[in-house]
Amino acid sequence: MAAATCHSPARFTVSCSSTSLAAPGRPLRVAVVGGGPAGASAAEALASAGAQAFLLERNPSGAKPCGGAIPLCMLDEFAIPRDLIDRRVTRMRILSPSNLVADFSRALPPGAHIPMLRREVLDSFLRTRAADAGAQLVPGLVTSLSVPAGPTDPYLVHYISSEPGQGQGRGVLEVDAVVGADGANSRVAREVGAGDYTTAIAFQERVRLPDAAMGYYDDLAEMYVGGDVSPDFYGWVFPKCDHVAVGTGTVRAKPEIKRFQAGIRARAGPKIAGGRVVKVEAHPIPEHPRPRRVVGRVALVGDAAGYVTRCSGEGIYFAAKSGRMCGQAMAEEWARTGGVTEAGLRRGYLRRWDDEFLLMFRFLDLLQQVFYAGNAGREALVEMCADEYVQRRTFESYLYKRMVAGEPWGDLKLLWRTVASMVRCGVIGREVDRLRRVELQARELRV
Ligand SMILES: Cc1cc2nc3c(=O)[nH]c(=O)nc-3n(C[C@H](O)[C@H](O)[C@H](O)COP(=O)(O)OP(=O)(O)OC[C@H]3O[C@@H](n4cnc5c(N)ncnc54)[C@H](O)[C@@H]3O)c2cc1C
Repeated sequence: MAAATCHSPARFTVSCSSTSLAAPGRPLRVAVVGGGPAGASAAEALASAGAQAFLLERNPSGAKPCGGAIPLCMLDEFAIPRDLIDRRVTRMRILSPSNLVADFSRALPPGAHIPMLRREVLDSFLRTRAADAGAQLVPGLVTSLSVPAGPTDPYLVHYISSEPGQGQGRGVLEVDAVVGADGANSRVAREVGAGDYTTAIAFQERVRLPDAAMGYYDDLAEMYVGGDVSPDFYGWVFPKCDHVAVGTGTVRAKPEIKRFQAGIRARAGPKIAGGRVVKVEAHPIPEHPRPRRVVGRVALVGDAAGYVTRCSGEGIYFAAKSGRMCGQAMAEEWARTGGVTEAGLRRGYLRRWDDEFLLMFRFLDLLQQVFYAGNAGREALVEMCADEYVQRRTFESYLYKRMVAGEPWGDLKLLWRTVASMVRCGVIGREVDRLRRVELQARELRV
């Protein structure tokens, strides 16, 4: 086994002796573990503020399983070049258990769209930009963290390098603070005892369609709800450059995920007929924030922190946003005080994050509980989605991440319609459930 090396900004030559945290004149040193949108954005923010940021990624050429839909505001906020976009979705359809269709296109503001990207393209771009800002990319798998005894001692980040030409050498980074951006199975969270959260499992197939079928999905994305595609989530068909991503997710019935995947394929049916599956992928999605998102001088961001909205499974924007917010908070505290502290991270990162997004996450949690609990709720959801006022408010909060105050009269009408839909759709939903049970029994009898 190769001897441990202690990597430093001066390219792997500094000894591992403990350095005082508050060292006047020297820059802050941070290890960012994970090179997805959260890690790349944290590293870019740190490097841009003059910190020495090490961005460790175990699989730089990999592709995170993902639908790849991002909100429009992310393009400007994160200066994402338009040529990275595979598809601009201007038509969004949601289909109920009884195949009632709500077309989301009517209230889309002029020129607005939902950008669809491949994650390998987006992540690689964000990592390169972090490197251009001065972050050092370290290809390698982080295996453990040595937590310091004293408040000014450094953290040691142990990793196995996969740098081309360097073999599988072990390395150690000595840093003042750590950003855990290593996704839903976060090693960093485990190392610092940040606690567990519930996860959903999401499953997705990349399906290459014949040209005519692909043309149908040119600027169209579909979402399917129903007990057949998921007991607590939705199934999707999202267009990409040369294929569609067909997938679903669940928290409650993970062992049955393949049955739900068969469900979404059956519902999309003729529209994806003749398609060839070119890739099958699955990954956990966090359902809640982790019990502890800051422990000492270690902060979790993105999926590692649990920032995915339950109703929509959206996490790319929140990952990038939290990474940047956390990186800026660390750099600001260092510039002000010459140190990084748990209290400072709570103030500068967690409090700002919660002030901006906690309400939105709670609201989407509630929507999921009301509308995904059974087929009656799902029918009501789709019926309401046909309403122009609902569409306008949904686009406002999804595309631009604004929780704007509604119009009192519009909200009152919406409340009334919601109750009416729930009552009416209770009947339809129960009927759909009954028909599905009959169909299942018939199938079992045939077997
Ligand atoms: C099937 C599926 C579909 C989805 N669709 C959408 C969608 O359409 N829109 C949306 O907004 N969100 C979607 N999401 C959620 C979205 O993918 C995540 O919220 C987002 O990727 C979180 O970004 P992140 O940077 O926090 O973590 P990740 O993207 O998971 O990145 C973590 C990185 O850390 C690296 N890593 C992990 N462990 C280590 C280690 N020990 N050492 C070094 N590196 C390590 C990994 O290789 C990875 O690159 C979907 C998720 C799934 C599973």
